[in-house]
Amino acid sequence: MQYTHTEANGQLAFNDPANFLMIPCALHGFENTDTTVHEAASGRTVLRFEGSLRLTEADRICECCGRRMHSNGKGETITLRHLPFGGDLTCVTFAHRQLRCPECEATKMQHIPFKAEDHEITEELYNYARDLLATGDYTNKEVSYLTGIGKNVVKEIDKQRLLDEYTIDGKTLKKPEKTTRFIGIDEFKLHNGRRYATHIIDMENGHILWIGHGKKKQIVYDFIEHVGMEWMSHVEAIACDMNSDFQEAFEDTCEWIQPVFDHFHIVKNLNDKVVSEVRRDEQRRLYEEGDHEAAKALKRTRYILTSKRSTLKKKDQEAAEGKVLSRGSGIFNTEDVVRRSGYESKYDELIRENELLFALDLIKDKLDEAYRQTQEPVMADMIMEIIDLCRATKNKHLLWFARLLDSHFEGIIAHATYRISSGKIEGINNRIKTLRRQGYGYPDDEYFFLKLIDSSRNTYVRNPKSHRIND
Ligand SMILES: [Zn+2]
Repeated sequence: MQYTHTEANGQLAFNDPANFLMIPCALHGFENTDTTVHEAASGRTVLRFEGSLRLTEADRICECCGRRMHSNGKGETITLRHLPFGGDLTCVTFAHRQLRCPECEATKMQHIPFKAEDHEITEELYNYARDLLATGDYTNKEVSYLTGIGKNVVKEIDKQRLLDEYTIDGKTLKKPEKTTRFIGIDEFKLHNGRRYATHIIDMENGHILWIGHGKKKQIVYDFIEHVGMEWMSHVEAIACDMNSDFQEAFEDTCEWIQPVFDHFHIVKNLNDKVVSEVRRDEQRRLYEEGDHEAAKALKRTRYILTSKRSTLKKKDQEAAEGKVLSRGSGIFNTEDVVRRSGYESKYDELIRENELLFALDLIKDKLDEAYRQTQEPVMADMIMEIIDLCRATKNKHLLWFARLLDSHFEGIIAHATYRISSGKIEGINNRIKTLRRQGYGYPDDEYFFLKLIDSSRNTYVRNPKSHRIND
């Protein structure tokens, strides 16, 4: 296609013999004299709008003495990326002139009214990219492709958008919009897996209210200082993990707050510290006793043993429907087990053959049931039953779990009264994983935290698997 230049009315336009195209735009003061076609390093077509930028009266006035300045030579050529046109990229290029005062010898650069601050792109392109980012429908990589803006600049635009939205002055987070009766606190791993951060959420709407580095009590004190005691006076309960000392920090400052240990974290403790350990011990025992066949059967069963029965049922269903199963984190070889028996029957087989695993299955069922109760005395009876069950096994891991339940008894049965759902906590955990996988967790923690805060306000985070655009 042939592009030729257009009328000098400030609009960009180009034509070919068949079509005449005018692109409305607000490149104030720019006069397009020629349009040329180039190829970017990526192989994409770039339409280059060449022209000149008019000097304004304001440009010509010296800021020091108020005299009229003179243009100093031809100026330096400047190129700004502009709005994409169809699948093609565009840019505007013109001479950027320097002005000089004959009186006081001050110099200044001509003002470019359509340039985005700090970036070599037009304001229109900046706003377009920012709008795309604000929809939450595109990853940074996709926005980079759609706008032709480099990934680092896309990130800077997005970070600025988030700072404008969630902070007062680019540093301090805004205070929560509303008060809440329940808050939740939880820690999560940062990208390198060695450092931690902690988030505090409004359990009523799932919004992240605060994120800080580390997992120390100080985060709680900082948060309370941030929201103030009046705000805290509306909070009745706090959901947290039993293995943290966050609740102590809350009790130190706001003694009316009831800690509640939610179902998600109890099951996590059971899976990570008991089921996994019991399985490992059993495997070792079987090996030592020479029962290699049985020891082998226990290999790669962590996934099955720590999954909910409903998850296993769903996986079996999917396998039956011929869906391709993901291999997950490689802890366990999907195909092997499914070919032999199916997830659920494999699970049943394992607990049938192993008394301890059978006891753990029973404990999981009883925990589920206990967490459905709405009367504290009824829940208390059930938890006590679980403690007895653990003790009866005399297994050190189960004895540890019994002690854990015993020493957090009050906060556990408080669940019957406060009915704090684990859904919000699980939702945030999944978002952290998704965003980390999409690469947002590296290397800018501040940006990652803002992305998390933002994603807790948008209910939908795109599945990274749906990416269509490659590098
Ligand atoms: Zn002057």
